[in-house]
Amino acid sequence: MTETPLHHLIKMLSALPGLGNRSARRIALYLLSRREDTMKPLAAALLAAAENIRDCRICGNLDTADPCAICCDPQRERTKICVVAQVGDLWAIERTGSYRGLYHVLGGLLSAIDGIGPEDLRLVSLERRSHDPACGEIILALSATVDGQSTAHLAADRIARTGLKITRLAHGVPVGGELDYLDEGTITTALQSRSAA
Ligand SMILES: [Zn+2]
Repeated sequence: MTETPLHHLIKMLSALPGLGNRSARRIALYLLSRREDTMKPLAAALLAAAENIRDCRICGNLDTADPCAICCDPQRERTKICVVAQVGDLWAIERTGSYRGLYHVLGGLLSAIDGIGPEDLRLVSLERRSHDPACGEIILALSATVDGQSTAHLAADRIARTGLKITRLAHGVPVGGELDYLDEGTITTALQSRSAA
């Protein structure tokens, strides 16, 4: 039996994070009821994003420019690099408006269950950046989960060198807490009261 375009659409939607078959069917029906004002613009937006957005070669952020706008911004403090798991965490910190340094996006966390090992994360480039004499502090802004903490340990091991300060987010990050879900005030406090890693 050949797969119809509708089945194919539902199958692709149901593979997205957080969506099961039921939600995928609902979304497919919703989109088909709004072909001109939602479905086609959405398809165009997906295509434009896929073609124009790339990973920043320095920090791993997503942007249309490479290096990204943050890496190129002369107003940012070049002495600090904040290490995050995902671009969503970078956005969460940017929303607070309380951090003016640079970032490094690892691209995930170590995870035995998901089969993510050190070679799957941007650790080599982090190590390289940590040797930049301009860099004085690396802030490990990783979640307070088991995976987040084992990733923080590994990153701290790789970047340890004389004179480099390595800190972690402190107060306010609940155990098991994902950065992306925290409110701006909590992230700001955690950034300001960071402690030595
Ligand atoms: Zn960048």
